[in-house]
Amino acid sequence: MCRTVVAQPRSAPSAAPSRRGTNPRTRAFRRRFYPQVTDREWNDWHWQLRHRIRTLGEAERFLMLSDGEREAILRGGAMLPFAITPYYLSLLDADDPDQPLRRTVMPSPGEFVQTRGEADDPLGEDGHSPVPGLVHRYPDRVLLLALDFCSTYCRYCTRSRVVGHGELSPGEARLEAIFEYLENSPQVRDVLVSGGDPLAMSDDRLDWILGRLRAIPHIELVRLGTKMPAVLPQRITPSLCRVLRKYHPLWMSLHFTHPDECTPESFQACARLADAGIPLGSQTVLLKGVNDSVATMKDLVHRLVMMRVRPYYLYQCDPISGSSHFRTPVSKGLEIIQGLRGYTTGYAVPNYVIDAPGGGGKIPLQPDYLVGRDGDDLLLRNFEGKLYRYPDPAGESAPRQDTIASGAPCGA
Ligand code: SF4
Repeated sequence: MCRTVVAQPRSAPSAAPSRRGTNPRTRAFRRRFYPQVTDREWNDWHWQLRHRIRTLGEAERFLMLSDGEREAILRGGAMLPFAITPYYLSLLDADDPDQPLRRTVMPSPGEFVQTRGEADDPLGEDGHSPVPGLVHRYPDRVLLLALDFCSTYCRYCTRSRVVGHGELSPGEARLEAIFEYLENSPQVRDVLVSGGDPLAMSDDRLDWILGRLRAIPHIELVRLGTKMPAVLPQRITPSLCRVLRKYHPLWMSLHFTHPDECTPESFQACARLADAGIPLGSQTVLLKGVNDSVATMKDLVHRLVMMRVRPYYLYQCDPISGSSHFRTPVSKGLEIIQGLRGYTTGYAVPNYVIDAPGGGGKIPLQPDYLVGRDGDDLLLRNFEGKLYRYPDPAGESAPRQDTIASGAPCGA
């Protein structure tokens, strides 16, 4: 066990995200472990990728490892490789293996435990893949897996059967087969480019992919899914933004898990993307011991809206193989939504969904605000638990004209 590690300050969980500068925790980490590294090197995303922490020896240099973490790294061979950028490592608590961010990226023996209902491909994506690296599950939209590389691997990744295995490269031959399929699929109007992390590709490769998609007339919307603003915000460079802004309407789904990821560096990365005119949404996976409380989730969604990122989805953790140590009961997700709805702006309340095992798509869940019916009235419960009536004549499918005239069209 490495005894040379110094404790680092934890970021204050309730403070609003700072918009400028660097995280004090990251500054302390750099002084301790990378004193010779210049700002220019540290802020170069290629440098960050070259210096990822990938071995037991490297991890021991920075963290006081638990027996479980050491065993899991040594055992290896689980579906996901192990890699963390130096930047993200600087956010981890060196001494506490239960720190939320640390749990999301450090291997654990739980990954080797398979429980009932778990599968390597619980969403049945492979069965909806007409071309390698393309998932066509919904009629009008597809998921394009551009590559299988990520800068940092999340231990709960739904695509751990694919990600990090080095089998999906962004080479032209494979991608041209996908573009040909899309050219011949006029019903597809929306392409989500994901992976792996598509922002791990060079600006030139992204430029080419986005240009090829934009050249297909029936594709109206292109979306990118990425965790880079959280794990490698240095990737969001002005030159990347110049590439992205050429391809509007372009939307981005960011992946934030915990308020401690909302650092000044992440804030600046999101600001660059938002200033490039890209609507930003966040997808968060509900994870036991990481973000499974109303207080933590409220802190996260408040920070996200400050960063101009709309909390979009809260996912019930998919039953991937070896995920039971991360999964909460569904009642926990409902409790969190109930603790947000009415207590903060609706813009900050994500849609809580289960991605149905077997490929059934996203199924929304929310606390039951519809209590029942009393004659021509609906009985509703508000966020404080108080009961209200709403006139809704049974059997009528359309509102009467007088209902329309007296309604409140603006919404509040
Ligand atoms: S960034 Fe996304 S694709 Fe990559 S490991 Fe994390 S969840 Fe999986």
